Amino acid sequence: MSKPTADNHAAKAPVVPSNFLRPIIQADLDAGKHTAIVTRFPPEPNGYLHIGHAKSICVNFGLAQEFGGVCNLRFDDTNPAKEDQEYIDAIKSDVQWLGFAWNGEVRYASAYFDQLHRWAVTLIEAGKAYVCDLTPEQAREYRGSLTEPGKNSPFRERSVPENLDLFARMKAGEFPDGARVLRAKIDMASPNMNLRDPILYRIRHAHHHQTGDTWCIYPNYDFTHGQSDAIEGVTHSICTLEFEGHRPLYEWFLDNLPVPCKPRQYEFSRLNLNYTITSKRKLKQLVDEQHVAGWDDPRMSTLQGFRRRGYTPASIRNFCEMIGTNRSDGVVDMNMLEFSIREDLDHNAPRAMCVLRPLKVVITNYPQGKVEQLQLARHPKQDLGHRTLPFARELYIDQADYTEAPPKGYKRLEPNGEVRLRGAYVIRADEAIKDEHGNIVELRCSYDPDTLGKNPEGRKVKGVIHWVPAEASVPCEVRLYDRLFRSPNPEKTDEGGTFLDNINPHSLQVLSGCRAEPSLAQAAPEERFQFEREGYFCADLKDHSAAKPVFNLTVTLRDSWS
Ligand code: ATP
Ligand code: MG
Repeated sequence: MSKPTADNHAAKAPVVPSNFLRPIIQADLDAGKHTAIVTRFPPEPNGYLHIGHAKSICVNFGLAQEFGGVCNLRFDDTNPAKEDQEYIDAIKSDVQWLGFAWNGEVRYASAYFDQLHRWAVTLIEAGKAYVCDLTPEQAREYRGSLTEPGKNSPFRERSVPENLDLFARMKAGEFPDGARVLRAKIDMASPNMNLRDPILYRIRHAHHHQTGDTWCIYPNYDFTHGQSDAIEGVTHSICTLEFEGHRPLYEWFLDNLPVPCKPRQYEFSRLNLNYTITSKRKLKQLVDEQHVAGWDDPRMSTLQGFRRRGYTPASIRNFCEMIGTNRSDGVVDMNMLEFSIREDLDHNAPRAMCVLRPLKVVITNYPQGKVEQLQLARHPKQDLGHRTLPFARELYIDQADYTEAPPKGYKRLEPNGEVRLRGAYVIRADEAIKDEHGNIVELRCSYDPDTLGKNPEGRKVKGVIHWVPAEASVPCEVRLYDRLFRSPNPEKTDEGGTFLDNINPHSLQVLSGCRAEPSLAQAAPEERFQFEREGYFCADLKDHSAAKPVFNLTVTLRDSWS
């Protein structure tokens, strides 16, 4: 069996995808403002990456690649209480899985803590930062609101020596968590709340996964992000729109500190996908409360979830390109992502047959003990070679492909009706054997030896169904996944409800008595197939083995939702 090929061939590129950042970068290069561009992807290691992050990864790494620049992977690790090495490892492997390579070593904002601390001291010395003793409640009150200006903190006019002394003692661990903070002295009346003397440092006696117990004060996001960009020589700092209001602060730090360069921040709209949650906090809740089997549960919108479900990296990259990069908020239809994976797998996934709910068929006029080794193409268009399928007297077809009460237009098997077995003969249903409850347990059929692979002159057989040989087929488990949420906007709930109320109770159905064609016994974990007439499936990354094959439904053959 050949290697999976889906990852090697990107699905067809869409027509002129739009990205408003392209002309900006091109103009910067044309004007000689930069000779090479540097971007970065800056995750907080406080959860696994989701499909929204894929968008950011594709934008940052993609633009760098396109313009011959580089993209750094930098962990924005300023909140040790929520971070974990497990997340760091998962994020690194996800970025690589998506097909991107970061520039040099992985970077950590925590590696710049010394420099950031020196810059904080620089601001204090310049009279632009002060230690504030307001409690969090008082600070909230002093901060004002969107409609009212804030008030100056009573600690705002502390002298430089006093501030230096207090900040040194904060660093030395003299005060408990939350007792004091270091704030920038900007403007408590600014209409931009981010400029109302924002916090730079907090006291947090916490062990850090990178710096250990070196620090008990930690810089916050705003004081870290832009300066880290500057240290790394980032030219275009691309983030999502919720940071637009932080840009003036980002620039204030760059303007007031002796940074080596001044990156520019650009914002684009975040990816929202219907039927999907894109918040690490809520995804973590799904895991912690065991609504799913883990971060890589195939129903999760994490990259590891999509991976286990059978999505290819190319299908996700292609989707991100297809939806474009702009500044207008909106919700992308899940059908677009499903379209992307279908297109990829239609092109690249070998065909195979698997009977999900087997019904035994005995071909009464087929000689006992005879076996014909049929050769079937692995793909209708691509040259992926052939697989061998033994045809024998006993077979399985799907229970749904035989009925005694055929609806109008039914093209499958009915009493005394005919159907073609894919790649094999035309058979006729002669008799249904039932158990004492009236359930059909076996079909007696006869085959027409003149119909192998073609209809004889003047015979029309409309229906084609899939089948596997009874003896040579491989018992397997098939996991049918559906969307985890039953409503397009899982966040929208009745009063007092939460997104958990929108979980689809039928998002997983495990079929344990399935029968796969013999070639599937060699499937490798993550190998993807089209199970004819059923959908696209992949061998489960974790649970599949030759001894106990497990296949996950990636996506149905057609959009069954619209
Ligand atoms: P979450 O809200 O899930 O915790 P986050 O923004 O806090 O996400 P980070 O680890 O800070 O997560 O994200 C790293 C980068 O990914 C940031 O630049 C962020 O803007 C971007 N990002 C996060 N979510 C999305 C999204 N839905 N669409 C596009 N980019 C996103
Ligand atoms: Mg964040």
